[in-house]
Amino acid sequence: MKTAIITGITGQDGAYLSRFLLGKNYRIIGLSRCCDEKILDRLNYLGIADNITLEECDLLDFSSIMRLLSLYQPDEVYNFAAQSSVGLSFSQPIETISFNTISVLNLLEAVRTVKPDTRLYQASSSEMFGKVSSLPIVENSILHPVSPYAISKASAHWTVVNYRESYKLFACCGICFNHESFLRNRDFFIKKVITATINISRGKQDSLRVGNIDIKRDFGYSPKYVEAMYLMMQQDTPDDYVICSGRSISLRDIIYHVFDRVGVDRNRLVVDQTYFRPNEITDIYGDNRKARTVLNWSYDINFMDILDLLIEEENKNTL
Ligand code: NAP
Repeated sequence: MKTAIITGITGQDGAYLSRFLLGKNYRIIGLSRCCDEKILDRLNYLGIADNITLEECDLLDFSSIMRLLSLYQPDEVYNFAAQSSVGLSFSQPIETISFNTISVLNLLEAVRTVKPDTRLYQASSSEMFGKVSSLPIVENSILHPVSPYAISKASAHWTVVNYRESYKLFACCGICFNHESFLRNRDFFIKKVITATINISRGKQDSLRVGNIDIKRDFGYSPKYVEAMYLMMQQDTPDDYVICSGRSISLRDIIYHVFDRVGVDRNRLVVDQTYFRPNEITDIYGDNRKARTVLNWSYDINFMDILDLLIEEENKNTL
């Protein structure tokens, strides 16, 4: 039986990857900043909380990571823990950049010191590419981050590449574009649009207030993206892979689709200039050819179908 340590176990990807790895008979050690009952919500929703060993761990505390690696001797470490909101990173730039970079350095250094044959996955982000000069984005496209979050992820990404090249660690980065699910945090766009639209239809909310919605993004489905993360950790050689759908959709089209499905009039949409970001990417999408050919990963889901699935799930459940 393989052992995997998953950081950010309480987040969306941590929960879905745990379920996927449990299906492959892994022992899962989940790390979280705090281990009270509330944080188990997503794991309980998937019915897997009882199958995971939870450990409290602040990834800024190097000795805690050393202790847990020594104790569990993991075959694989998946690092999802991060301040993951681009919006929040503008109001908390120091916290975001400090945590999202030092935590990764600590993990790499602990692996190198305690058990250098442990394989490490880092959650890199398409946000790193920022102001794009050519599309689609591929693994070696030029980085031009335009937010503190993107800067933190770009720095962590190159730290991982450096440990792979300098110390020969099996360390790889999944360069993921936006991926969604019912388990997404409430303050992220898609979740916000769906919950607000349902609230409007139930008379609990007047309108949906948004920033610039004439931008386009490449959206996918988290439960499918975690499969690619697993696959890159099973290869003979470590490498980085773009994980995306390959298409971009405008935020306006997404909102109109959700409004129409739920039966909400489009005049309930309010565009608010105060929600606009200081620096915004207009259009971005990736090319997932490398993941499809090398990892044999397949992805062919229309995002509008995912929206329908999420509306249905949101209508039936609360989290
Ligand atoms: P998420 O739901 O926000 O989960 C991230 C987890 O990180 C949280 O549950 C939290 O767990 C932990 N965390 C540790 N330190 C934190 C801090 N200082 N501030 C806030 N949270 C902190 O993220 P996700 O959507 O599952 O994404 C997983 C990883 O992939 C993240 O690193 C994200 O940046 C990256 N990524 C995500 C996407 C996407 O579209 N979802 C795209 C590209 C990259 P505890 O509170 O339990 O410690």
